[in-house]
Amino acid sequence: MWSFVERAYPLCRSLTGAGVRQTLALLGERIPLQVHEVPSGTRILDWTVPKEWNVKEARIRGPRGETIADFAEHNLHLLGYSAPVRTTLELDELLPHLHSLPERPDWIPYRTSYYEETWGFCLPHRRVESLEPGRYDVVVDATLEDGALTYGECFLAATTPGPFRGEVLLSAHICHPSLANDNLSGLAVCMALAETLARRPERRYGYRFVFAPGTVGAIAWLARNPDARARIAAGLVAANLGDPGRFHYKRSRRGTAEIDRAAAVVLRDRGADHAIEDFVPFGYDERQYGSPGVDLPVGALTRTPWGRYPEYHTSADDLSLISPQRLVESLEVYLAVVEVLEGNRAYLNLSPVGEPQLGRRGLYGSLGGASGGRADELALLWVLNQSDGRNTLLDTAERSGVAFAALRRAADRLFDAGLLRET
Ligand code: ZN
Repeated sequence: MWSFVERAYPLCRSLTGAGVRQTLALLGERIPLQVHEVPSGTRILDWTVPKEWNVKEARIRGPRGETIADFAEHNLHLLGYSAPVRTTLELDELLPHLHSLPERPDWIPYRTSYYEETWGFCLPHRRVESLEPGRYDVVVDATLEDGALTYGECFLAATTPGPFRGEVLLSAHICHPSLANDNLSGLAVCMALAETLARRPERRYGYRFVFAPGTVGAIAWLARNPDARARIAAGLVAANLGDPGRFHYKRSRRGTAEIDRAAAVVLRDRGADHAIEDFVPFGYDERQYGSPGVDLPVGALTRTPWGRYPEYHTSADDLSLISPQRLVESLEVYLAVVEVLEGNRAYLNLSPVGEPQLGRRGLYGSLGGASGGRADELALLWVLNQSDGRNTLLDTAERSGVAFAALRRAADRLFDAGLLRET
């Protein structure tokens, strides 16, 4: 994950353009990726695919020829989707085109102007304040013309026979330039999750990873997947997975979907501080997936949510804000959610009147009263007790407070002992 993050960090991603394709190419080195190109002007639901934006050079020179801001030095210096311009102007004419953060005077803010054609630069506030009157030379050598919106999809089909259970959607935005937590962390964790799931011996679900620009990319995907509602059984939007904050799960619009319950149980079972929040039609692309016409069961699983850490959408969201260890921890949480989805089944207790004698089957500690192994025994008893053919292991995990993984192990042992049948 870290080598991907280091290579992808300098690329200038945006809604469209070369940086998105280069980032998808990096992902494609690691996972099977289908790249889609949707031409500019294509109608996608209530939206239209925008023009494609690419930058060759962008800089401001001051009255003495000094460099004030240079895209080559940091791609956040250029307002995202800046229109091309070559001009010389006075400081007071330049200032309305400059964006800075007075409260964080050393950081470069991340700003875009996708739907209003203009140009601009983003600078540390300290530098803006130091500008002297005089003539400023501005060059934005960029193209804003018909091209395409690019997104990538990695699909891992289900491998187990049986009825179609649907797909699990994992979605990460790919439209932010040099920002680490708010963008690269989500891409990296999804990439590593896809790599891991590709090696998983059994998959009851298909797994569909979507790497698309925020909002318009998710809308393009929805427009091109009108059967999504019938296919998507669960999903997560991945972002902000490398910062030091605790995990946050934001429920899907449905609120009580299996994914909502699975994520909550996984975070509970970790035993670490976390937060569960309700759906709000704001944030990342869960708001598109949760629009009423599709109402997909897709939540958002992040560490610190967007906008709640000071480095958010600034140059301080760099590699120093995230760490390999935290990316791995996030990957483990995602994998644990997958394990719940894959392992959540309902069973029928085949010896349901009175407890079956577990000791005779080697399932119960032989020493009555010993406390060691009691947790395992409790898991066995909960699974036996709740296996009336209707309750799933997730139901039992919620009711009992016993970790899902312990119940899963118990169900396997009971199944092997001939005490359960899957329903
Ligand atoms: Zn963002």
